[in-house]
Amino acid sequence: MQNGFRFRLYPTPEQASILLRWIGCQRFYNAKVSEDRYFRTFARKSLQHAGQLPPQDQQYSHFITEATPWLREVPSQVLRNGAVRWKQAYSRYWKKLGGRPALQTRHGTQGVWLTRELFRFEPAVEPETGEIAYRLHVGTRKHPVGMLRYTAHRAHAIPASITVSIDAGRWYLSFTNDDSVPEPSDAETAEWLASFSEDELKARTVGVDRGVTIPFMCSKGASFNLSEIQRCRIARKQAAARRWQRRLSRRVKGGANRRKAAQRIARLRRYEQDVRRDFAHQTSHRLVGDPKALLIVFEALGVQRMTRKPKVKQDEQGRWLRNGARAKAGLNHAILGSAWGATKTYTAYKARRAGKLVVEVAPHHTSQECARCGHTHPDNRRSQAEFVCQCCGHVDNADHNAGQNIARRGVRLILSGEYRQKAAKRVMRMRQKQLGAGRSEATLGEIAVSRGAGNGTALGSKNQETPASTAASG
Ligand SMILES: [Zn+2]
Repeated sequence: MQNGFRFRLYPTPEQASILLRWIGCQRFYNAKVSEDRYFRTFARKSLQHAGQLPPQDQQYSHFITEATPWLREVPSQVLRNGAVRWKQAYSRYWKKLGGRPALQTRHGTQGVWLTRELFRFEPAVEPETGEIAYRLHVGTRKHPVGMLRYTAHRAHAIPASITVSIDAGRWYLSFTNDDSVPEPSDAETAEWLASFSEDELKARTVGVDRGVTIPFMCSKGASFNLSEIQRCRIARKQAAARRWQRRLSRRVKGGANRRKAAQRIARLRRYEQDVRRDFAHQTSHRLVGDPKALLIVFEALGVQRMTRKPKVKQDEQGRWLRNGARAKAGLNHAILGSAWGATKTYTAYKARRAGKLVVEVAPHHTSQECARCGHTHPDNRRSQAEFVCQCCGHVDNADHNAGQNIARRGVRLILSGEYRQKAAKRVMRMRQKQLGAGRSEATLGEIAVSRGAGNGTALGSKNQETPASTAASG
């Protein structure tokens, strides 16, 4: 299976300035984008070029001219990789998996993709522990960067290509690796679970109710929420970010002080992102780690659709009416802040690795249905927390009751045999091939990508094995 790694990287100031130049030069990608746009407009307007398609190749040498001397100051492989990225983006477009390659901005996370001519990992034995740690050397003979210090907080093999990126002043090293451990597909796991009896499967199923007050509530009683101290710190950082946002807006555009304010806001917001990601990882780890749970059931909530802005309202005279946008913004913030989507995505890929299954069921009336007798009525839910059945008198915590309904729907889905994976699209993508002795090579191969929303699940774990790679590893 494919494993993703992201480690902190600590370049010296000199190394950082070289890497920043590489990042900037790989953004010549934008020249490819502009060229393509120009060709398409031209081909449409001129009779001479009618019917001709713009070239979609990986050429880049014609961009290195007298006017762009800086492109000569980086290894050509950096530019070549930019062109390859552009071509890959275009193949995704033709497979209807995304838009045409778009201009890359200079804001937010910036990265450079390095293939193996540009780096090498040297194994070195730690004298104290006796463990093998790798030293990362980056650069070519003509354009050396030197040894880059990084913290490998977990063991990894040597990757075929790496990405070096910077986000709000922090450097990262990231790559994927195939550990050639086979994992069962979701369909196989579903088939195996369908052979259970109803009571057996019920005992081994966890339904997870996602709510605004408590982000995750399990049918077996466990609940997951951010700690009080984390919420307090997030609120403080958010207030500071808002204050700095106001300061930023008063500063001169393009000025150094505005840039400094933007950097400070990015650093303040990063705390929240880090805490949320950590929360999603810990929650998913605990959901999958429960030895009694083989089937984990979520409601199918379109988080993207749920967190849309409300439509504007006008009366007959065209005057604007209140549409509750302010309140909706608060709710959206709560939903996105509870990391609903990320937790489900992480749970799905971690479950697959553990031979377990995550399914989604229809979300309608899960909070109004009685888990004991099935009576469904809005009156059953007295308040946010309390559930009292109007028919049989069953009393429970509302979220816990909803979790049990979700679990039951999941069991029914599996036993009825109606569980199907979404139809998969095929897409060309860089894939790593094991070459023995810890080396792997990137080759173009096809992997399945699920359609529409929830793509993250498929992208999070690229677990499709080629016959070639299986043969090489076995
Ligand atoms: Zn009831």
